[in-house]
Amino acid sequence: MAGIYIHIPFCRKACHYCNFHFSTQTQYIEPFTNALLEELAIQKDYLKNPIETIYFGGGTPSIMSQQNIERIMGQISKHYNLADSFECTLEANPDDINLEKLSAWKSIGINRLSLGIQSFQANALEWMNRAHSVEQSHQAIQLAYRAGIMNLSVDLIYGTPHLTDKELISDLDTIKSYGIPHVSCYALTVEEKTALHKMIQLKKIENIDTTHQSNHFNIIVENLQEQGMDHYEISNFAKPGHRSKHNSNYWKGIPYLGLGPSAHSFNTDTRQWNIANNQLYIQSISNGIVPFEIERLPIATQFNEYMMISLRCMEGFSTQTILDRFGINFLNHSLLIAANFETKGQLIKTATGFTLTKEAKFFADGIASDFFWID
Ligand code: SF4
Repeated sequence: MAGIYIHIPFCRKACHYCNFHFSTQTQYIEPFTNALLEELAIQKDYLKNPIETIYFGGGTPSIMSQQNIERIMGQISKHYNLADSFECTLEANPDDINLEKLSAWKSIGINRLSLGIQSFQANALEWMNRAHSVEQSHQAIQLAYRAGIMNLSVDLIYGTPHLTDKELISDLDTIKSYGIPHVSCYALTVEEKTALHKMIQLKKIENIDTTHQSNHFNIIVENLQEQGMDHYEISNFAKPGHRSKHNSNYWKGIPYLGLGPSAHSFNTDTRQWNIANNQLYIQSISNGIVPFEIERLPIATQFNEYMMISLRCMEGFSTQTILDRFGINFLNHSLLIAANFETKGQLIKTATGFTLTKEAKFFADGIASDFFWID
C-alpha cells in the first residue's frame, strides 16, 4: 500500500499566519498542471502498487478547475493501480464551494473533503485574513452533504488572541449540530517570515498566550470526546470509521509520493522534497528533470521520527516495534526515559508500550524530544 500527495501551490489570498508554500499568482495554474502531469509520468515507478490514498493539499486545491482535477486523477489512474477502497481527499476553502464543483469532484472519485473552516467567528476569520465568510462555511458544509460527500473533515484554529472560550464552545457545538465526523484542530503558531510574525514584532498585535492555547486545547478535547470522537492524534479527532487513512499511513511510516512544488516523498530509507518555487519547478520539469533534494535517513533519525509521531498518536509507542526496527540499545534508552515520565504522571503503560496521559498531550512534542537519540 502507498499514498500520493499532490501539492497545489496557489491561494486567493495570503492568510496572516501561513508559512506553507503557495503563490497568489493564479495565472500559472495551467503551466503548473501540465508540469504536475509530467512529474507523475516521470515518477511512475516510485511507489509499489496499489495506491490506497490520494490527498490534494496545498495551498488551495479547490481553486483548481474541475477539468484540471480530472486530468490529474486520470494521470494517476494511468500510471498507478488504485486499491478497491481507496480514499481520496481534497482540501477545499468554503469560498470555492458550489454544488456543481462538488458533484464533479464526487464523480471522479473524490470521496473525502477537508474544509478549511478555521473558525465560525467573523472576527477570528478577519484577524487571520481568511478569504471566506462564516456564511460561506455554513453553506459549504450543507452543500457537501447535499452532494453526497458524507466523509467530511473540518479544520479549526484555536488559541487566537481574541477567541473566547464561549466562542470556541459555540464553534464545537456547530460542528456537533452538523454531525461532522472528523475534525483537525491546530494551535495558532507564529512562524517566521509570516505577516503575523512581523505584526507581533512591530507590536501591532499581541503575542500568542500559551496558557490561553492550552485551555482551548482542553476544551476541544473534552467537547469532541463527548461528541463520540476518538482523539486519535494530537491534532485529530474522528468518529469510529472516519480516521484519515492518508495521514494515518504517514504516521505508520507507509511510503508516499509527493508531487508539485515543495512536496515531500518518502520510501522508508530516503526522503526527498521538491523545490519550493513554482517557476523553477515548471521550468525544470519542462526539461524532464524533477527538481528535488534527497536525504538518506540514518537509523537515529528514523527512531527520533518514530518517537515524535507515535507519541502524538493515541496508541503511543510500541516497545516491540522499537526492538524490531531499531534494536535493544534503542529499546533500553526508551524504557529509561519512559520510566522518568511515568513517575511524573505524563506517560502511562499500555498493553504494547507507553502513551501520553491526557494532561501531557498538549506537551507531546517537547516530551518526544527528550527521547531523541543523539549520535
Ligand atoms: S488558504 Fe491555506 S495555504 Fe493558503 S494562505 Fe491560507 S492557510 Fe495558507
